[in-house]
Amino acid sequence: MYGAVIHAPGDVRYEERDDPTIVEPTDAVVRTVAACVCGSDLWRYRGVAPVVKPTPIGHEYCGIVESIGTAVTSVKVGDFVVGGFLHSDGTCAACRKGAHANCLHGGGYAGCQAEKIRVPNADGTLVATPEMPADDLIPSILTLSDVMCTGWHAAVSAGVGPDTTVAVVGDGAVGLCAVLAAVQLGAPVVIAMSRHEARQKLAATFGATHIVAERDEAGIAAVQALTDGIGADCVLECVGTEEARWQALGCVRVGGTVGLVGLPHGDFPTDQLFWRNVGIKGGPAHVRAYLPELLELVLSRTINPGLVFDLELPLSEIGEAYAAMDERRAIKTLVRP
Ligand SMILES: [Zn+2]
Ligand SMILES: [Zn+2]
Repeated sequence: MYGAVIHAPGDVRYEERDDPTIVEPTDAVVRTVAACVCGSDLWRYRGVAPVVKPTPIGHEYCGIVESIGTAVTSVKVGDFVVGGFLHSDGTCAACRKGAHANCLHGGGYAGCQAEKIRVPNADGTLVATPEMPADDLIPSILTLSDVMCTGWHAAVSAGVGPDTTVAVVGDGAVGLCAVLAAVQLGAPVVIAMSRHEARQKLAATFGATHIVAERDEAGIAAVQALTDGIGADCVLECVGTEEARWQALGCVRVGGTVGLVGLPHGDFPTDQLFWRNVGIKGGPAHVRAYLPELLELVLSRTINPGLVFDLELPLSEIGEAYAAMDERRAIKTLVRP
């Protein structure tokens, strides 16, 4: 089979790789229907995170079960499935608390931007749709593999609800999904911070009540002006840079909460949190915990997070899929084998 391999910053190739096989009885092999490039893949593409050796890449996928190990019971060959960016057993003490991203026996994948994927812990990772989904639902289902669940996790972690004001820092796919999540969770005020017209439009489509185009002090002042002069109850930080975290801290009110889902790079000023009674909560999303509810919202066409994909390419053009996102020509690229 063929799949993506990152060789060095700026160098992702479409290469022949070994077909995945059932290694453990709890494995499944999934034939990919759609996969995509993640903002977090760009950390390596941009040389911010190291590429030590040529490595299969990608962690977001949906597809059809091609084979299962002898111990797998929850999915069968031919099922259409989606799984999160980390696999989990669904049975350990952490999973039983809903902390699937921190599963005691979980982990990552050997590259999901590929024609086929080995999914360890299939029973605790994959969720099957009741029937073959309509083709126009595939992009939205694919977002449940990461970005929609991650945006949801930011909102849940920050305590977003019907009485909360929300500001979202970051206008990438996760930030836009966080807007959608906050709206879906009933927040009456959802402020999207974005300078880019196409992303502002999508944020408004997702239900953002206000757009703030300014950054830094001007951005903070604009958010405060919309929130009784004190800042938002919940700020969803969906970037991960030090700059974005400062922005989030500036936008949250005293006693408020920052939901943190941007992959952390750099320091976080914890003293600030103490004196302002600000809480932070977040981390990698517990995708498997959120999947059933969010899959239902997608299949019933209540939410359409698949709108974050503004470019679709064949998997064979994976290099261009990365370049388009790196150069911000695309918000998020979907690839099909
Ligand atoms: Zn991702
Ligand atoms: Zn577990």
